[in-house]
Amino acid sequence: MGGGGVGKSAITVRWVHQLFVEKYDPTIEDSYRKTVTVDSVTCTLEVMDTAGTEQFMALHSMYMKSGDGFILVFSLCSMESVSELQNIREQINRVKETQAGRRVPLVLVGNKCDLVSERQVPREVAVGLSRAWGGVPYYETSARKEINIHECFEDICRQMIKA
Ligand code: GDP
Ligand code: MG
Repeated sequence: MGGGGVGKSAITVRWVHQLFVEKYDPTIEDSYRKTVTVDSVTCTLEVMDTAGTEQFMALHSMYMKSGDGFILVFSLCSMESVSELQNIREQINRVKETQAGRRVPLVLVGNKCDLVSERQVPREVAVGLSRAWGGVPYYETSARKEINIHECFEDICRQMIKA
């Protein structure tokens, strides 16, 4: 989950189909499946690539209820996209805390790390956020250059296996 244009679809498609989509319809909300083996445990992940913002909030809270883990994505080129995550994080907390007292599998992702000259979000800001959220793992990714994409899905998978 995350704001519009941060690269949620690009990351998902990169991971599922090993390719980079330059233009992906920002309104398409779709689910994907991929089977992976992590630490010799084989599991099939169902990935929901969410889209839109306010008008889909009802849907989003439904995904939050049924979701077992969340990859929260911002763009390293947009400070605003970091603050958008705060609301999503709070909403996940609200939805999930009432269901169970335990920790929700989460990964924080700063995408577009290949766009070095357009970078707006210093690493320390993101690391600070991940600490404030209780030590949520943080990855800097590029869907374009295929950097850390596999790693963040593997991490969320590992957390969900343990949860
Ligand atoms: P979404 O709205 O979060 O699903 O964002 P998209 O996946 O549609 O990506 C928005 C735009 O950012 C598209 O033009 C993508 O090509 C571009 N984009 C996504 N990921 C990356 C990346 O890692 N590097 C670069 N340079 N561009 C990216
Ligand atoms: Mg999208």
